[in-house]
Amino acid sequence: MSHSNISIFVPHVGCPHKCAFCDQRTITGKQDIPRADDVRRICTMAMEQISEPKDTEIAFFGGSFTAIPKDHMLELLEAAKPFIGGSGFKGIRCSTRPDCIDDSVLKLLKEYGVTAIELGAQSMSDKVLEANERGHTAADVENAARLIRSYGIELGLQMMIGLYKSDISDERQTVSKINALRPDTVRIYPVVILEHTRLAELFHSGEYQPFDFESAVSLSAEAMQIFHESGIRVIKCGLHASEFVEQDMVGGFYHPAFRELCEGRIYRSLIETVIERLDDIQKESGLTFAVRRGCISKAVGHKRENVRYFAGKGVKIRFIEENGLPLYKAELR
Ligand code: SF4
Repeated sequence: MSHSNISIFVPHVGCPHKCAFCDQRTITGKQDIPRADDVRRICTMAMEQISEPKDTEIAFFGGSFTAIPKDHMLELLEAAKPFIGGSGFKGIRCSTRPDCIDDSVLKLLKEYGVTAIELGAQSMSDKVLEANERGHTAADVENAARLIRSYGIELGLQMMIGLYKSDISDERQTVSKINALRPDTVRIYPVVILEHTRLAELFHSGEYQPFDFESAVSLSAEAMQIFHESGIRVIKCGLHASEFVEQDMVGGFYHPAFRELCEGRIYRSLIETVIERLDDIQKESGLTFAVRRGCISKAVGHKRENVRYFAGKGVKIRFIEENGLPLYKAELR
C-alpha cells in the first residue's frame, strides 16, 4: 500500500529538555511554530492535491508533540480533526518522548484520531541516555511502547547510531531491545553533530570521538537487516537532506544517500557470503546474481561501489532482476 504523510513541523516547542545532540530548529529547518490556521491551510492544500487521502496521515513532527502546552496541542488537533476519516485522511501521526506518554495523553490522542506515535528512544543503554542528557531511561521507552500498543495505536521507534559514550555493543543492544519491542516502524538516525549543541562542544574538545563513517554505515546496515527480517518497516535511515543540516553540521555521519549506502552494504555482505563458498574457477568466470525486480541499483551499490569492490577482489559480478525474490536477497544464477 502506498503511504504518505503531510508533514507539519512543530519545532522544539514545549520541549523542556536540551538533549546533547539536539538543535531542533536546525533539524526541522524552520522556526515558525504552527497554529490552527497553518494546519487548516496545509490540510486543505493537501486535500486538493492528494488522490488517495485515505492512505495519508497528517504528521506532527519535529518536537515532542505531547509535551506542547496542552492548549496548543488541542488547538492543532482540533484543526486537524475535520480532515480525518470519511473521505479525508487516514489519521494523525506524531512524534514525542517516551516520558511524555501516559494514559490521559493517549486517551486524548485516540479521541482526536491519532493512528501512529513515534517515540524517540535514541538508545536502549541507560549509560548512553544519561551521557547524552536525554532525561529518560530505557525502561521509560519500554513502558511507553507497551502503553501505546495497548491503545491500538501504531508504534514507531527512533534510534540514533554513534551517540556520545556509545560503543558497538551498546549499539547492538539497542537494536536487539528495539527489535524485541516489535514496533511497526523504525527510523535510524546516525548522529549528525550540529553546531550550538553540547555534542559539538564535546566533539570540539576531543572528549567525544564518534565512530568512523564506515562503522556507522555497517552498523546501520546491520540494524536495517535485523528489523527487516522481523517484519519491521525501516521508514528512514539517515537524516533527510537539508541545506540547514549541511550548513550547521560539524561532524558525524551525514550523507545525502545514507540509506542507499546501507542497502548497498546489505547486498554486499550477502554476495560476499556466497562468493566465499565458491572455488577460484567459478569466481574467475564472472558471476550473475538475481535480485528482486527494482533492486538492481541497491545491489550494485551507490555509484556502483559493490561492482568495484568485487572487481578489486578479482570477481566480476553482474545482476539480473527476477520476480518473486524478496528484498535483500541475492541468488547466484
Ligand atoms: S526531547 Fe527531542 S526536541 Fe527535546 S531536546 Fe531532546 S531531541 Fe530535542
